[in-house]
Amino acid sequence: MLSLGHNDIMLGCHASDWQGALDQAATALGDAGLVTSGYRDGLYAREAQSSTFLGNAIAIPHGTPESREHVKQTGVRVLQFPAGIEWHDGNRVHVLVTIAAQSDEHLDILRQLTHVLDREGVAEKLAAADSQAAVASLLSKVPVEARLDADTLCLKFPARDPLELALAGAARLRQAGCVDAAFVAAIADQTPVGLGKGLWFTSSATGVVTPSLSLATPEAPIAHSQGPVQGVFCLAAQGDAHRNLLERLSALLDSGGGEALFEADVATVLARLAGESASARTVRARVLNAHGLHARPAKLLVQAARQQALPIKVRLLEGGGEAVSAASLTKVIGLGARRGQVLVFSAEGDAADEALAAVATAVSEGLGEKVLPFEEGRDHTASIAPQAVLEPLPADTPHAAVAASPGLAIGPAFVLRTPRFDYPERADDGVHEKRRLEQAIREGIAQLESLVHSAPGGEVSEILSMHEEMLDDPELHQAAREGIGEGMSAEAAWWQAIDTAARAQEMLADRLLAERAADLRDVGRRVLGLLCGIELPTPPDHPYILVMDDVGPSDVARLDTQKVRGLLTARGGATAHSAILARALGIPAVVGAGERVLGLDNGIELILDGERGRVVPAPSRERRQRAELRLKERERLERDAFAARFEEGRTRDGHRVEVAANLGNTAHTADAVERGAEGVGLLRTEFIFMAHAEAPDLDTQVAEYRQAIEALDGRPLVARTLDVGGDKPLPYWPVPQEDNPFLGLRGIRLALTQPDVLETQLRALLTAATGKPLRIMLPMVKDIAEFRQAKAIHDRLLEEIPETERATDVQLGVMIEVPSCALLAPSLAEEVDFFSIGTNDLTQYTLAIDRGHPELSAQADGLHPAVLRLIQMTVDAAHARGKWVGVCGELASDAQAVPVLVGLGVDELSVSARQVPMVKARLREFDLAEAQHQARLALAQATSEAVRDALEAL
Ligand code: PEP
Ligand code: MG
Repeated sequence: MLSLGHNDIMLGCHASDWQGALDQAATALGDAGLVTSGYRDGLYAREAQSSTFLGNAIAIPHGTPESREHVKQTGVRVLQFPAGIEWHDGNRVHVLVTIAAQSDEHLDILRQLTHVLDREGVAEKLAAADSQAAVASLLSKVPVEARLDADTLCLKFPARDPLELALAGAARLRQAGCVDAAFVAAIADQTPVGLGKGLWFTSSATGVVTPSLSLATPEAPIAHSQGPVQGVFCLAAQGDAHRNLLERLSALLDSGGGEALFEADVATVLARLAGESASARTVRARVLNAHGLHARPAKLLVQAARQQALPIKVRLLEGGGEAVSAASLTKVIGLGARRGQVLVFSAEGDAADEALAAVATAVSEGLGEKVLPFEEGRDHTASIAPQAVLEPLPADTPHAAVAASPGLAIGPAFVLRTPRFDYPERADDGVHEKRRLEQAIREGIAQLESLVHSAPGGEVSEILSMHEEMLDDPELHQAAREGIGEGMSAEAAWWQAIDTAARAQEMLADRLLAERAADLRDVGRRVLGLLCGIELPTPPDHPYILVMDDVGPSDVARLDTQKVRGLLTARGGATAHSAILARALGIPAVVGAGERVLGLDNGIELILDGERGRVVPAPSRERRQRAELRLKERERLERDAFAARFEEGRTRDGHRVEVAANLGNTAHTADAVERGAEGVGLLRTEFIFMAHAEAPDLDTQVAEYRQAIEALDGRPLVARTLDVGGDKPLPYWPVPQEDNPFLGLRGIRLALTQPDVLETQLRALLTAATGKPLRIMLPMVKDIAEFRQAKAIHDRLLEEIPETERATDVQLGVMIEVPSCALLAPSLAEEVDFFSIGTNDLTQYTLAIDRGHPELSAQADGLHPAVLRLIQMTVDAAHARGKWVGVCGELASDAQAVPVLVGLGVDELSVSARQVPMVKARLREFDLAEAQHQARLALAQATSEAVRDALEAL
């Protein structure tokens, strides 16, 4: 509520130009002790992004998010300029409502002022107001709407005449607390008047607590000397609160729609009185946005409505509010829709259903925001302030999340909140807007190019190059240009193009696609930042732990590795690009830690444990000292581990465990060998396919695989055949949309639908590895039947290709990723040459937790005893047949898991290249007997937490 005291309002100000007015506004905020002098620049910066002119001679200057540090206290100063000033966008302004806001309070003020904007003549009145009280009442007065809802209606009442019905309506208003007994008595004293069409009316202003309207309808039509009685409206009048409602009522009567009220149910009565016609089609959609329909989602809703060929109205299901145009931003914001409330959209005409479905879908998809489903009962409607949800993390207490990149970091937090981009939705000069957009895209590409050059190579530069390509996408440019052609500003058109493309990707499936969508938004934000002139907040110049919502890969690539000691994110899983990059850069990272981490104060000290996936805010002195010791110890270990990286992987007592590297790019093989990898334990060949615009032919694949084989120089290569499908689609291999892509056509299931593709890949691998050891494994196998089908192709190729032209040291194995395969391992072990356990998927399918789930993935712990039992069954079955078993999921590099896996009998661990030296070092820390003891201990526990606790207690 915009409540203004007299001291908040300054009458009779004069300024020769808008800058003079803005300076006065800044001074007024400063004099009131609300801001420090730096806020003035923030006000100017905000105007430079886009004008804060609102309409009706009002502008609402407020600082950029970056300038919030200058706000001492949230508050408002209103400056009246009777002579008016020309604002920089050419509009005439008489009142500045200048806001100093520590968060997004200006949105509430904006919403409130939308009521003022609708009122005719308010600009003149504001200019002429001669008292603070007059200005305050003009700005603050939220027009009161008479109450009309399910509780004020009294339908199908057994009455015999209009007065009985009127009294039933009055009694209903009394039950609803809108009137007192005096009102009922006053209604009893007067005779209802006929409105025509069977409807009657009675009203009183006596005993009114809340202005309200009731409709009472009879059980059966009542015959009356003055005409039929099909319903009586009973109005509790106060001021002109009922004006709108009565206008809608008379419009309804004029259109002949009144008669239908007699038979109607509560929802229909409310719909008709809201202004929805009987022939309109309707659709409902629940608002899922955490903060309701605030400016940004409202804007997207309006855009969605404007894109439809016919006018769409919207109202709140609750209450008797008017159905307003969904294409009007002020009206939509003015609904004040909160999370959980239901919107009713209506439209008329042939294509109404289609148009309504489009807007309803936009709402349920979150209107550009990440939203969670609404749970009746558990989920309170949005009266909860966002801050209330963000309970601070308790001090000196470990907060568990997803371990994404190993290492330990101690340092102050720097919380990077995603910048808000404010920009005008529409722009007149399309040519100018197109030029601005082209310029921003060019600058974005140039920025990315220089980042690629300064990047440390490997994954980082690859992802940045991918961003560069995304930014160069002609379809994206075309979509944005079309938006500008329709009158949108460069910013709005660009973001719409990005968002549409990102949503399309997100809709297809989850993990990798969701990450691609994040990449797109990341690229989009870069250009948007350039268009709006917004730079990311400057990080401190001392080392810090970066805390973010969900980092875009280019955010990570921009990180100053000298200063960023650790990374903590609210969202994301261990497989997100940001996590992969953090590993590539060797920065300890904990991800998916929940929104509460964003509430951490800048500068608060954190201990971040990227190995255990924990963060401790404000640690006690003792805990900090312990962490420092561990950190020193870890640094020493890393140095020693690197020095000994070429030693064979062995436990302290010499038990051999091979340590290999996981790769997605054959060009990185030499680097992996240089880090001590004893082979490649998992080549994710789908990434090679993804890097090509069409399926790579035999020669291209041979060249790719040969690159790895040559760099390995006789060390084994374990290549996984294509693992695409639902969650990892190939653009040139379309898969029908599936409800559960992780349970759909993927891995070997998909490959077997196009055996020629699988055959070409197998042929390429066999050819490339001529004279070298080659291990081929099949992903997502569920039982022996799938293995046999693939093996038939493999065996035929061995027959076909002369031995001199292909590998002869070949093994064919399966990945153990589906629990059925682990349970059936004895039958598989008879025929396969080896197993490699993909603990990422095995954990996902065993625990029924989506591995990329932003909230749940922290619980998808491969050290769960259920997963460990499946590993044990696999190893036992394999060893009984003399076959070997590797682990190539993330668990293989988890320091706590390494001895357990070795104790279970795993023969090979395949980890990301950077972790090879540390995993070898970890092996040297224990002997086989200890490992077996740890495995037995872990298997005996009931939960993954119990496993970790038991291991930690050793
Ligand atoms: C796994 O599932 O553990 C695995 C190694 O495969 P990916 O992560 O590529 O699905
Ligand atoms: Mg897998």
